[in-house]
Order: sequence, then structure tokens, then C-alpha cells
Amino acid sequence: MKELNTDILVIGGGAAGLSAAAEAASSGAKVTIIESDLQIGGQLIKQTHKFFGSKDEYAGTRGYKIADILKAELDANKAKIDILTSTTVTGYYIEDKTFTAMTGEESYFRIKAQKAVVATGAQERLIPFPNNYLPGVYGAGAVQTLMNVYGVKPGNRVLMIGAGNIGLIVSYQLIQAGVKVAAIVEALPRVGGYWVHAAKVRRLGVPIKLQHSIKEALGGEFVEGAVIQELDDKFQPTGSEEKIDCDIICLAVGLTPTTELLSQAYCEMRYVPQLCGYVALRDRTMRTSNPDFWTAGDSSGIEEASAAMVEGRIAGLCAAKSIGLPVKTERFDEYWKRLDHLRAGEVGEKIRAGVNKVLRDRWEDK
Ligand SMILES: Cc1cc2nc3c(=O)[nH]c(=O)nc-3n(C[C@H](O)[C@H](O)[C@H](O)COP(=O)(O)OP(=O)(O)OC[C@H]3O[C@@H](n4cnc5c(N)ncnc54)[C@H](O)[C@@H]3O)c2cc1C
Repeated sequence: MKELNTDILVIGGGAAGLSAAAEAASSGAKVTIIESDLQIGGQLIKQTHKFFGSKDEYAGTRGYKIADILKAELDANKAKIDILTSTTVTGYYIEDKTFTAMTGEESYFRIKAQKAVVATGAQERLIPFPNNYLPGVYGAGAVQTLMNVYGVKPGNRVLMIGAGNIGLIVSYQLIQAGVKVAAIVEALPRVGGYWVHAAKVRRLGVPIKLQHSIKEALGGEFVEGAVIQELDDKFQPTGSEEKIDCDIICLAVGLTPTTELLSQAYCEMRYVPQLCGYVALRDRTMRTSNPDFWTAGDSSGIEEASAAMVEGRIAGLCAAKSIGLPVKTERFDEYWKRLDHLRAGEVGEKIRAGVNKVLRDRWEDK
């Protein structure tokens, strides 16, 4: 079986992985990025809206343009970076410190790396309800991929489940694509996303129904409607129901970190609600309890692209340092300043609480 050798393996070519790769390569490491998708960029390539965050992390720039900026940075170090797209890292075998990977469905090979940065992003959460298997029931990420990557309009009338930032932003993008948004339903008594995103869709006449959820999808062979129901303060149905005319039901009910490879590497994991799932304990260099593994981005806790980029940079820099390369250590302090800034104030409170549960000063102190 073919075997690939590299200094630093970066798994996932999203905001975190590309930043980690750029940082490690500019420190002199030979880097290989493995990305399952047809192209690198991760979530960023689907985001047509202007990002929040800070100036250093391209606030005010559209997501897909941030991906272009990161790709250009990789180009500047291209002698040091190999990029394999349409390739998935399928497993890690701790006994002989070997990764396995597949390109397409044919080529299966091994990878040996001195160090690895796991930047595998997140998976969408789904919720159970009758008929949720019908064609026309989508995760919000799939709807974005169809519309913003492939230029395919997913349907004509959508019921959006979830009024967090993703539900609100994807609703707006659906409207831009000519899809009518019949309603956004949200189980909580408040909108979870930023006010500015909610205001945009409300101005366009989209009802946001708080304390409501989907009861069932209607239809025989594909979605032909849905029934929504009102919930009380204990999330129990009040008995008040409404039929919604729609041909798409879009689920935007949260993300959870993709961490299987970290578990396979026996990294110590913890369930942290504020970070939306199981994540690896890490020190301030983003190194996990397995000294060959770093974690960064949504796979280390659901946050934002801005934080994913900074964490990626810290991980790439410190992974390069760990193999003896002369890195500019003052960058480490600079990146932590940026992270602290992004996580400051009321908005960052939840993330700070989550990170405090998984951050270790030094591994010896565990
Ligand atoms: C609708 C929406 C709006 C958003 N708006 C904002 C915003 O305004 N501002 C902001 O800062 N953030 C925003 N975000 C969040 C931001 O997009 C993410 O936090 C960020 O992109 C996460 O980057 P990442 O590199 O950790 O993960 P991703 O971008 O998800 O990249 C992970 C990559 O890993 C690949 N991968 C996974 N497993 C494997 C494997 N085994 N082998 C190979 N490859 C693998 C995946 O294919 C993927 O490309 C938004 C997200 C969404 C969905």
C-alpha cells in the first residue's frame, strides 16, 4: 500500500486547517493538507455574507473571499505544502502511529506524520420527527452547498427550523436565491442569532415563531408541507398547531464538533455543552493529551471562523516548534491576545466558560 510521509499533517482544509498549514509552512515545516471536499475552504466557501469578528480576521469581508485570502497565503508557501482534495482521513492506528486515507472510492493509502493538526470542523445536528426521511428535508449546510457552491435552487418554499445565526443567515440567502421563506420556528422563547440577522429577515416579512417547533413533515414521496406546534416553557406542546405550505424543511438546529480522529488517537476528551459536544482537552498551544496531536477550529468547540483561524495559527506554529523548527515565539502571544479579544465581553462568555473546562496550563498539571 502507498505510504505518504510528511512533517505536519493537517486534516481539514477549512479556516482552521488552512491557517495552521500556512503558519507551519512559513516556519519551515513540510505540510500536507487533506480535505474530503472537492476544494479547500471548508464552510467559508459557502458564506456569501460579510463576517463579524475583528480586523485581523477579516471582519467585514465575505466568507468566500476570506477563503481566497487564505488560499493566496498558501500559494506563497507552496513549495512546502501539498494539498490533497477529495481525500478523507479515515482512521488513525495508534499502535504504529499511522493514518489511513482514501482518495475518491479507489485509492486507499497510509500516512505517516511527525505531528497532526486535526481541523475537521463540525457536523450538523438533526432532530427526529415523523417523515423526516422525505426528500426535501435538509440540513442548513446542505442547502448552502446546493445554492452557494453549485448554484442549485433547492425548492420554492422553505420552513426553517432554528433561529440561531445559521438559520437566520441561510433564510436570508434562500430569499436572495428566490426561495420564499414561509416561517422560521424556534423552540426557545428568544432568537439565538445576532439581532442584525433577525432584523434583516423580519424586514422582508418572514415570521419568526418563538416557542414553536416542527411536529411532522407532510407528503408521500417528498415534502409537501409541515405541521408546526407551539411549545410551553417546558418545551411541551400546548396543543396549538398550524399547517405550513412548503416543499423544503431546513434544519438549522446546531452543530457538534467532529472529533472521531482525536478519540482514535486516545486524546483525553470531555463533553462540554458550551462548546457543543465532546472536545479534546488542550493546553494553550492547542496540543492535546496525545503529544502528536493538536486541535483547532470548530472541531475543538463550535465558535466562529475568526477564532478558528487564530487557533489554527497557534496549532500550526506550535506543531512546527515541537519538531525543532525555529519559530517566531512572539507570534504565540500575539495570537492569544487576538483570541482573548474575540472572546471578550458578554458575547464571549459562553465560549470562555467552555474553554476554561478544557484548557490545561501544562499537561503535567492534569
Ligand atoms: C451559515 C453560517 C454562517 C456563519 N457566519 C459566520 C460569521 O459571520 N463569522 C464567523 O466568524 N463565522 C461564521 N460561521 C462559522 C464559521 O464558518 C466556522 O466557525 C468556521 O468556518 C470553522 O472552520 P473550521 O476550519 O474549524 O471548520 P470547517 O470550515 O468546517 O472545515 C473543516 C473541513 O474539514 C474537512 N474534513 C472533515 N473531516 C475530514 C476528514 N476525516 N478528512 C479530510 N477532511 C475532513 C471538511 O470537509 C471541511 O472542509 C458561520 C457558519 C455558518 C454555517
